[in-house]
Amino acid sequence: MPGFKCLVVAGTPGVGKSTVSRLLAERIGGTHVDLSELVVREGLYDYYDPETNSYVISEERVSARVRELCESSSGTVISTHYPEVLDSKVVDLVVVLRLDPRVLITRLRKRGWNDKKVAENVMAEVLSVVLTNVVARFGTGKVVEVDVTGKTPEEVVDELLRKVREGAAPAGYVDWLSVVDPSFIEELERVL
Ligand code: ADP
Repeated sequence: MPGFKCLVVAGTPGVGKSTVSRLLAERIGGTHVDLSELVVREGLYDYYDPETNSYVISEERVSARVRELCESSSGTVISTHYPEVLDSKVVDLVVVLRLDPRVLITRLRKRGWNDKKVAENVMAEVLSVVLTNVVARFGTGKVVEVDVTGKTPEEVVDELLRKVREGAAPAGYVDWLSVVDPSFIEELERVL
């Protein structure tokens, strides 16, 4: 895609970032990089925290490595659920994928995660946490939001390319709080 060397596909775990990013990279003749895999493979973290069961990443090293990757290739597509660690000067565009929390909960349960971890992530989607972090970090001008619910990965890629071309629909149009039943939220709260 002309003018876009560094594209980020962001969203809550399970919304389809890797699937869509692989396809998008193919379509634009670029390369897909999964940020979590890159961090672990290249040791771009400060330490492993057994309490949260996760790596505490080094923002400086991650940003430097992503800059390198983006500069060396014509279209790098980076999928991540923590895009806010990336340098806004390096990133050209962030696409935030949104998925109906009632669909997401089924996908995350299939991953074998415990109820609390599933509820935390579904609640994050309900509350637009990733989108809010992205807008705070990159500003609305660099953000495109796509509701992927009920769409095939091919349809999602078509829609996001069209939105990028047209600069359509300001981010923030998806509001799951006004869509899901209050009892769905209460059920999540009981587990949290
Ligand atoms: P993420 O990278 O956001 O965690 P994945 O790309 O791993 O998400 O997708 C999570 C699961 O959902 C996978 O089993 C994948 O095959 C499926 N999936 C992804 N996109 C879609 C879609 N548009 N429609 C149906 N299933 C999808």
